[in-house]
Amino acid sequence: MKRRISILGATGSVGQSTLDLVTRSPDRFEVVALTAQSKVRELAAAARRTGAKLAVVADEARLPELRELLDGSGCRAAAGQEALSEAATGEADWVMAAIVGCAGLLPTMAAVEAGKTVALANKEALITAGQLMISAARRSGTTLVPVDSEHNAIFQCLVGARAEDVSRLIITGSGGPFRTTSANDLRNVTPAEAVSHPKWSMGAKISVDSATLMNKGLELIEAHYLFGLESSRIDVVIHPQSTVHSLVEFIDGSLLAQLGSADMRIPIAYALSWPGRMETPAAPLDLVELGRLDFEAPDLERFPALRLAREALEAGGGATIILNAANEIAVDLFLAGRICFPEIASMVSNALDRIAAPAPGSIEEVTALDSETRAKVSAAARESCS
Ligand code: NAD
Ligand code: MG
Repeated sequence: MKRRISILGATGSVGQSTLDLVTRSPDRFEVVALTAQSKVRELAAAARRTGAKLAVVADEARLPELRELLDGSGCRAAAGQEALSEAATGEADWVMAAIVGCAGLLPTMAAVEAGKTVALANKEALITAGQLMISAARRSGTTLVPVDSEHNAIFQCLVGARAEDVSRLIITGSGGPFRTTSANDLRNVTPAEAVSHPKWSMGAKISVDSATLMNKGLELIEAHYLFGLESSRIDVVIHPQSTVHSLVEFIDGSLLAQLGSADMRIPIAYALSWPGRMETPAAPLDLVELGRLDFEAPDLERFPALRLAREALEAGGGATIILNAANEIAVDLFLAGRICFPEIASMVSNALDRIAAPAPGSIEEVTALDSETRAKVSAAARESCS
């Protein structure tokens, strides 16, 4: 039987890679729904190509245009938050959560609560909802299959493992485009330099996060929730070749790693075909050509975002919501040329110091703290920029 899939964030980097794999295997997958923020042309083209039944644009003002583009295709056009949740909960049995940022929280939670198999790329949803999402997954019997390459690697290494045999998780990261840039020079790096990642081709937000190492910080929190290990048992190691995607250490001293070329289609394919596997067009790894694998400790002085993320995880409560929301605002300001690169981490640090972070008891409380943080961080930025 074909797997019926829905892709939230179909026009993004992960969404496009997912579509690439799915359209290569029409005998295995049936696309039922696709969503996008505002790129209606790309969305409609993908809906026509895949024969999707529902196409949702988050921006309601774009609905008439989407309707026109889909005229005669048999695909229904819809818009807004409720329609996004409908795409996450309708006919699909497998949902790719690939919206960027906390904007993906509600539809991702809807898919989890509806008991879909959720391929989770949208790390910000898990980082903000944390235990609420894990508990909802347990209640509905959902499996969250990690798409983030590090977590997908760990997920693969844990097949057949007993929880009590795991001693440590080791998350690797390339170190980003500024791995060797001096603290002084970091003040002058541009958005264009920050988004040109040395190893991975990704959306703008996660590329900036990779440059500040906030991405590794978010991944540390993500690993905590996905695999249930405390912060002290999750290490981050810089590995410039991006070949070893992460490792699991067991109590007998064995380390298991997953290796592969830096192509997101490998972890996406694993999520698509889990618990099996499927072929991908990714280039096979040539170990001889690769020659060597290097590892080094992250520099928390030049890249304080990683330290802030670990502190937020250890502080608990709503601290990771504040961390994430302040970071999303700061990254937008940096991309707009309004703040310099080191200010991203300073803004996050200030928000964590100034905003109270009670533990959220519901998704409504998560979104309320997220909104409060965004408003306060934006207001502080307006003041300091004026
Ligand atoms: P992207 O910017 O390329 O795409 C984001 C998608 O989300 C687009 O389809 C966009 O239309 C949609 N979107 C944006 N804002 C929205 C909103 N307010 N409402 C509804 N839809 C909205 O991002 P990406 O690089 O594909 O990353 C997606 C997620 O996957 C992120 O959480 C990222 O951290 C994670 N991730 C990405 C990669 C990668 O290689 N790109 C790797 C690991 C994890
Ligand atoms: Mg990653």
